[in-house]
Amino acid sequence: MGEMCTAARQRRPAGWPIRGYRFGDGKQPGGGQGPGQATLELVKASPEAQLRLLELADLDAELNRLDHRRRGLPEVAEVDKIDARDAELHDAIVGAQTSEKDLAREQAKAEADVDQVRTRTARDRERLDAGQVSSPRELESLQSEITSLARRQSELEDVALDVMERREAAQNSGNSLAAERAELAGRRETAVARRDESLGELGEQWEKAADRRAAVVAQVPDDLLTLYERMRVQHGVGAAALRRGRCEGCHLTLHTVDLNRIHAAPEDEVLRCEECRRILVRTPDSGL
Ligand SMILES: [Zn+2]
Repeated sequence: MGEMCTAARQRRPAGWPIRGYRFGDGKQPGGGQGPGQATLELVKASPEAQLRLLELADLDAELNRLDHRRRGLPEVAEVDKIDARDAELHDAIVGAQTSEKDLAREQAKAEADVDQVRTRTARDRERLDAGQVSSPRELESLQSEITSLARRQSELEDVALDVMERREAAQNSGNSLAAERAELAGRRETAVARRDESLGELGEQWEKAADRRAAVVAQVPDDLLTLYERMRVQHGVGAAALRRGRCEGCHLTLHTVDLNRIHAAPEDEVLRCEECRRILVRTPDSGL
């Protein structure tokens, strides 16, 4: 039996039996459990209860569609995009502030260096002007120092100026980032309102469908519901209708022999499509 089943995965030979679905203690792992398990138990349910499964499948499809729409809402993506940009801006602002603080320290140091050279130059000039230095060699050395201090001062002033410019650039950058962030906060408010409105509408639709589902579930016997849920977990859709000789789950047309077997099966027998393994529900236009 096992090898025949493997060979029959895609297209069974005519006359392959449609079995009543059996299930047991729920120990089998999800998917791929083979037929013929010894501990299984036959599920039986009235045709009315079986038809409820089709309503359930429709409602589950609607709930899935709503979940999918909720996840794919452009309004949600828009808020996420704004939040991502806001996080980037926040980091960039922190970066600009840190850099501005570092440059402020650097600027203070550069200015102190300039002051130090200025003080030294002033002292030298004082000595020179006061005529305190008389030796020509000492005089020459003092003048030479004043010249080199002037050069040094000019270099240090360039450094201070460069630091000051970089500090201003960091301040400007921080200011424009902060302005963009403030503008973004305004856009976020609008986007959040639109997102919440759409989510609210979808949520209402979802609640309605969930209520309808609960009402249908209340009319399905426990063992049939357990079977349906298990099929749903394994195959996405738990039950499909048999219409005009075709399984509406996998859209495969059944062989006449199979249809005859289904026709002969007791109406309370819960059948499964041999191809897609979903619960196969007979309908008034099953084509039997
Ligand atoms: Zn099928």
